[in-house]
Amino acid sequence: MNIAIVGTGYVGLVTGACFAEMGVDVTCVDIDRAKIERIGRGDLPIYEPGLEELVEKNVREGRLHFTTDLAGCLDRMEVVFSAVGTPPDDDGSADLRYVREVARTFGQNLKKYTVLVTKSTVPVGTSQEIKEIVQEELNKRGVDTPFDVASNPEFLKEGAAIKDFMSPDRVVVGIESDRSKALIEKLYKPFLLNGYNIYFMDIPSAEMTKYASNAMLATRISFMNDIANLCEMIGADVDQVRRGMGADPRIGAKFLYSGCGYGGSCFPKDVRALASSGRKAGYPMRIVEVVDEVNNDQKIRVFDKLKQAFGGELHGKTIALWGLSFKPETDDMREAPSLVVVDQILRNGGNVRVFDPEAMDEARRRFGDSVQYAKDMYDTVDQADALVLLTEWKQFRLPDWAAIRKAMRGNVLIDGRNIYDPAEMREYGFRYDRIGKKMVNE
Ligand code: NAD
Repeated sequence: MNIAIVGTGYVGLVTGACFAEMGVDVTCVDIDRAKIERIGRGDLPIYEPGLEELVEKNVREGRLHFTTDLAGCLDRMEVVFSAVGTPPDDDGSADLRYVREVARTFGQNLKKYTVLVTKSTVPVGTSQEIKEIVQEELNKRGVDTPFDVASNPEFLKEGAAIKDFMSPDRVVVGIESDRSKALIEKLYKPFLLNGYNIYFMDIPSAEMTKYASNAMLATRISFMNDIANLCEMIGADVDQVRRGMGADPRIGAKFLYSGCGYGGSCFPKDVRALASSGRKAGYPMRIVEVVDEVNNDQKIRVFDKLKQAFGGELHGKTIALWGLSFKPETDDMREAPSLVVVDQILRNGGNVRVFDPEAMDEARRRFGDSVQYAKDMYDTVDQADALVLLTEWKQFRLPDWAAIRKAMRGNVLIDGRNIYDPAEMREYGFRYDRIGKKMVNE
């Protein structure tokens, strides 16, 4: 089969590489010429475990191609996946300009039956709008080429994207015809040989499933952060509470971790977009509306703990930060807690020294000269007054604390992910604070 994937970002590149791995002939399209040239040189613009090898292999074996020209390759395609970005607009709603642009190009160049599948996260009603745009372009050309639209929201997690795409929990597809259903089913069958979890449904329900899933996950995080903050104030330990809660199969143990707030390219914008859809429909989603608010406060909370540790005065202090990406195993810093914490420290007159195993290039792009960049995790803490853990990369989990204590000027340790043992940290002489448990520091 011949397919095109439009948008060669985290979702598009992974989707393209994984379909190619299953034997499909895939052309990845992006309007960003520099990105396409870079990928052509074998230099991927993003870090995702296993992706570089998969792309390199499928390019070498002739199943994966890259271009900036959708119009030029459309004739060969049976299915076109649109995986372009849907960033937040000023009012929180999804900005659909890239999605509309793809629909226009598709309509302007379509010559035979093709399915246009939206993989981007888009509000209910977007596929209908895409259909109208394509039809409008066909009308302008005076042709009546048949086509279908479909919705296939993506559930992969950055950091585990290849694994998630190769063995998905489920594939959700909104369809409007048996013809498009058969094509999409054929494409996904190789991924579902061990458990056929493909859910065909109507298109609005597929679009909504993605928002409802992300909003539920984000709600769990904000809910647990709220519980954690209350635990701190009234003397409970959120980690013990979490274990007790998670043992109930109706609740489940996953996604019950409190910390310094969620980030990334999906939860924050999708929660805001769902809230915006509710407001537009005249049904403000009261739970969803506060999920984002609680999360924003949580990012500040880590900074507040830091400030409190210095009696409210950060002027001249050097703060070491471990972890800048919004979660481990990615270099993605979109909406990461680190952005808020760095900004707050700098505003309060502190100096920041940062280290992340993969996000240093991205950090340089965002922070420029305003922070210092460490060579490695130990270099970060040299003469630092405090260490703050923001992203729980594996290499931060069991560090050489004696060496760190020796290298640091101060002894403040703020654990934004609750991964260290308070008793052990006290033994090393740290003034240790974390989320969701009142710390008594000697
Ligand atoms: P991204 O920003 O990494 O990539 C989007 C790409 O689309 C960019 O390379 C951009 O240049 C390209 N593009 C924009 N307009 C184009 C056009 N007209 N023609 C060709 N290319 C164009 O975005 P992403 O993180 O891959 O997300 C894409 C979509 O998937 C979003 O809607 C997002 O919400 C959703 N999603 C993302 C994830 C994730 O983990 N990143 C997971 C599930 C769903």
